[in-house]
Amino acid sequence: MPARLPRIVAAALALMLGGLAADAAAQTLRFSNVVIDAGHGGKDGGSVWNGLIEKKLCLDIAKRVEVGLKSRGLKTTMTRRTDTFVELSQRARLANRVPSSIFVSVHFNGSRKTLISGGEVYYRSARGRVLASAISRSIKSRVTGGTRGIFHGNYKVLRETQMPAVLVECGYLSNKREAARCATPEHRHKLAEAIVNGILAVWAR
Ligand code: ZN
Repeated sequence: MPARLPRIVAAALALMLGGLAADAAAQTLRFSNVVIDAGHGGKDGGSVWNGLIEKKLCLDIAKRVEVGLKSRGLKTTMTRRTDTFVELSQRARLANRVPSSIFVSVHFNGSRKTLISGGEVYYRSARGRVLASAISRSIKSRVTGGTRGIFHGNYKVLRETQMPAVLVECGYLSNKREAARCATPEHRHKLAEAIVNGILAVWAR
C-alpha cells in the first residue's frame, strides 16, 4: 500500500466517511411537535371492510397517539379531531405551519386480495425513512400481525409536507382476522403505543 494515497482516492474516502457520519447522525431527529394526521373523515370514509370504516379507526388511533406523546413531553397538533372532511393539501399546509415538527399520518389498508395482512409504513424523504424504520420496528415487536415493512410512497401528504413525514397503514381491514383485531380497543391501543414508541426511539431531545 502506498504511503500516500493518490489525491482522488483520498477525496473519495473522505466523501464515503462523511456519508457514513451523516447516516449515523440521521438516526435521530430533532423536533418538539408531532403533527398527527387521522386519515379520511366526514364524506370520505376511506376503506370499508368487514363492518369497519377506516376513518373512525384512524381517529381513534390518532387520539391515542396524542395522549401517549403528550404524556412523554411532546407537543402535538391534530389535523382533525372530529369526523370532518379535511383536504389533503390543507393537512399539509397546517403541518407546515408547526415549527420543529414531524408528521405522522394514520391509515388502515384494504385490498381485494383479502389474504394480505400486516401494517406498512410509507416515507418519501431520507429523514422520513428514519422515522418510518423506527415505527415499523416498533410495530413489528409489539403488535400482533406486525408489519410488512417500510416502503417509498408518493402520497400527497408526504409530498407536500416539509418535515420528516410518514404514513402508517395500521393493517388490512380486508383481512378477516386483522379486521377482528382492529375492532378491539386493546389492539388499537397497542398500535398507538407502538407508533408512540417508534417516534420516541428517534427523538433527539
Ligand atoms: Zn386511508
